Amino acid sequence: MFCDQCGKPVPPSATTCPHCGSSLAPMTVAVATPPPVPGPRRSGESVPEQRERPARLPPARAWLAGVLTRDVRSTASGVICAWFGVPWVLLMAAFGAVLGGIVGLVNGTMVGPGVLDRMDKIVGYVVPLPVKPLELLPTAAAQIGGIVAALIGAVSGGWKLGYMAATWPWEALYEGDPTWPWMVAVGQVVTALFVGALWVLGSSATEGLRLRIGGCRRMSRRERLWLAPLVAECARRLDITRPPVLLIHDRREPNAYALTRHVVINQGLLDDLGYDPVMVGGVVTHELAHWQEGHAISAAWAKGVALPLYLLYEIAVRLIDVTGRIRPLQWLLRVLLWSVTTTVRGIVIPIHAHTARANELAADDRVIEAGYAEGFRRALARLRFYEQGRDGWDRAVCATHPPIELRMERLESPGRRYPLRDDYALSAGLLGAPTSTVRRTE
Ligand SMILES: [Zn+2]
Ligand SMILES: [Zn+2]
Repeated sequence: MFCDQCGKPVPPSATTCPHCGSSLAPMTVAVATPPPVPGPRRSGESVPEQRERPARLPPARAWLAGVLTRDVRSTASGVICAWFGVPWVLLMAAFGAVLGGIVGLVNGTMVGPGVLDRMDKIVGYVVPLPVKPLELLPTAAAQIGGIVAALIGAVSGGWKLGYMAATWPWEALYEGDPTWPWMVAVGQVVTALFVGALWVLGSSATEGLRLRIGGCRRMSRRERLWLAPLVAECARRLDITRPPVLLIHDRREPNAYALTRHVVINQGLLDDLGYDPVMVGGVVTHELAHWQEGHAISAAWAKGVALPLYLLYEIAVRLIDVTGRIRPLQWLLRVLLWSVTTTVRGIVIPIHAHTARANELAADDRVIEAGYAEGFRRALARLRFYEQGRDGWDRAVCATHPPIELRMERLESPGRRYPLRDDYALSAGLLGAPTSTVRRTE
């Protein structure tokens, strides 16, 4: 137990703090009793044999919820954006807006006819458009010039080219046969759902292999001695009879994540939490709750149904990332890939974020039910950095998670005081007095 006011450890029976003298308010919600931590074993003592258990899968209802019922809106937006050419429509709309803006600006001025004539040739050479640049302007604006006309031209040009890009393929199909657009649309949706299902099954089947290639390892003997009883206790409190496999990644950043058959904990997280069983128990319970509810399944499904867009986005994010040293190239890529990043960050992720946020809070609620609220709250207070996502798409989703401070608030027990300055905070350790091997005082 820790003092509310000064944060120093106090004996569990104390009513006033021996360090600062403030009275310790009784907690209305039972704080998790730390699970038994195995003491040091003597060398001769037997150690439970570590075997690779078969990877457990979440219950069937988690699969159904993850794929079908949890997030219909997100599925629909993914299918439409990835399989019905939304980035293409956005790209053409942006192109039309730029062209229309330029036409509006120069039209009616002295240089107008010359510029328009040249633009006509250049544009026709780069992208054969079915419209002439001047046609991007509404007829009423043909006699206005300057900024106003540029704005009108941008809006009108964007709308015209975007609308054309969205409708032209369907009109062409309709001219072939009135039933073709419907058949193609149904075909796209069926393909998207099929690819999504394959992606979910495939990523779950190859999960262990991919994690190990990515640097995850099994627990060492001493890690298992310390962690396995803790994980068993967390699983028991969540009514999980067959928990997933726990793997360790030797990354320094304090992160943990749940997939469909594995929970991964970064070694840096264990270090940063100081191997505190209450804090680590809170984190493990949160991740086990994600696994049990199948949240990784809905995340994989959201990627799978939008697979072409997901892959394009990952390529775009990586290209923009690696060209950071060559600014002009990076800006060129930003412009060229703008429609892909905008479709993902502006449409698909915001719709998916609704579910992702709800999943986070649902996992936090399971932590409260399991009696680990205090430990998990303390872990969040300490890290202030949690579940960051491992690819560009996941990072964009994780960026929409509820703020850590507000999640901590939900984990607080009523009637208990929580000082703003958390003595568990990791930064507290960094801000201490500098140490030196040289005597600094006389
Ligand atoms: Zn105190
Ligand atoms: Zn989470």
